[in-house]
Amino acid sequence: MSKRRNVCVIGCGISGLSVAKLLQQHEFNVTIVSESDPRIIHSDPTFSSLFPAASVIPRSVNSGEIDSLFEESLSHFDALHEQQFPGLKIHEHFELFASGKDLPGYAQYMDAFSTLEEFRDSFHPTHSGLAIQAGWKFNCYFADWSLYYPALLNSVLEAGAELQIQSLEKDDLRDLPFDIVVNCSGLGSVELFNDPNGLLYRGHLLQILEAPMLKNPNGDTVSYNFSPGAEIYHTESGNAQDVYFYPRSDGWILGGSRQEGRLDEHGIWTGEQTISPNIEIDGTVIPEQIFTLHKNILYETFGMELDRFTKRKVKVGYRYLRKKEEGLRLETEEIHNRLFIHNYGHGGAGVTLSWGCAEKVRQLLRKNVS
Ligand SMILES: Cc1cc2nc3c(=O)[nH]c(=O)nc-3n(C[C@H](O)[C@H](O)[C@H](O)COP(=O)(O)OP(=O)(O)OC[C@H]3O[C@@H](n4cnc5c(N)ncnc54)[C@H](O)[C@@H]3O)c2cc1C
Repeated sequence: MSKRRNVCVIGCGISGLSVAKLLQQHEFNVTIVSESDPRIIHSDPTFSSLFPAASVIPRSVNSGEIDSLFEESLSHFDALHEQQFPGLKIHEHFELFASGKDLPGYAQYMDAFSTLEEFRDSFHPTHSGLAIQAGWKFNCYFADWSLYYPALLNSVLEAGAELQIQSLEKDDLRDLPFDIVVNCSGLGSVELFNDPNGLLYRGHLLQILEAPMLKNPNGDTVSYNFSPGAEIYHTESGNAQDVYFYPRSDGWILGGSRQEGRLDEHGIWTGEQTISPNIEIDGTVIPEQIFTLHKNILYETFGMELDRFTKRKVKVGYRYLRKKEEGLRLETEEIHNRLFIHNYGHGGAGVTLSWGCAEKVRQLLRKNVS
């Protein structure tokens, strides 16, 4: 007789799929209930997993458990990389600043981490008008999204998960035919679980299609984040912004923005607006710096003319942070005599922390289910 137990996962973003995959490997039958069908839908800013850039670096997220979750995630990414999981790549990544910057807390976990002092005289991305004052580089995992996400979805479905497309309402929670429910509904949790913490960071991505992989002089793929200083690029309320360049098999991802805000009761953005200078591409207004800063750096560093690449797409998505302190929610709750395990509020690090959070969900299950 099968000892497998049934569990319901709400949401099939990166959190829901990672939890589903891990639980399947540990004797659970998984049913996923999701409002959006990721096989069909391609743009809905509230469905964050349509948008990640997706570097495996813990940023724009708040939780006292970041270090352990990140470490756990990295060990899962190591194993997946060893198995050559589709879309999971590792390459040299630069973080560069036009003004001073303290080392990040994650430095200790990154492979081949070194600071600007050590590589100032060797290859690194540059801007012709903005001298780099601080920075570091390391080897970093990236999920090439158009490969990684479908591969994860397929592997979960092929392992027998049922995917039900349904928009759940609060009252539906009472009638769900499962004893155990893992909530990975992201921003949907605001209504579904009466979560009053609705803080978002809106992000703009400019996708350059049919662009080549860019390499360092050794022939290795590279990516970068560049912070030009608040006087060059800031949000409406004055917060310094950075831009980032991530190469993918289907072109380049040029980010970005982190505009703080919330949605009103009609789902309309009420936060910071894109201020001048801005530029309209593909029918959407984005900060002009995303284009101009990358244009300069790509030319200076790789001799690449951004203007040459005219197939462009703009994407706008929300990173759901919940609140500025302890935003990530990873805990159990009993509702209608059922065990719910919450896993949401990953901000800008849902991919980064996906496996660590899935592992934590599994531990909470083991602790609470006999
Ligand atoms: C521009 C941008 C760049 C980013 N870059 C990175 C990066 O480089 N690295 C990184 O780690 N992270 C990055 N992120 C963050 C990352 O995308 C998110 O943290 C992550 O996708 C969150 O995934 P999730 O599965 O928790 O939620 P979501 O992807 O939002 O999924 C929620 C799921 O719940 C379902 N749902 C919601 N409400 C209901 C309901 N009532 N009933 C049924 N189903 C429901 C939805 O349909 C969906 O399936 C980025 C985000 C943005 C916007």
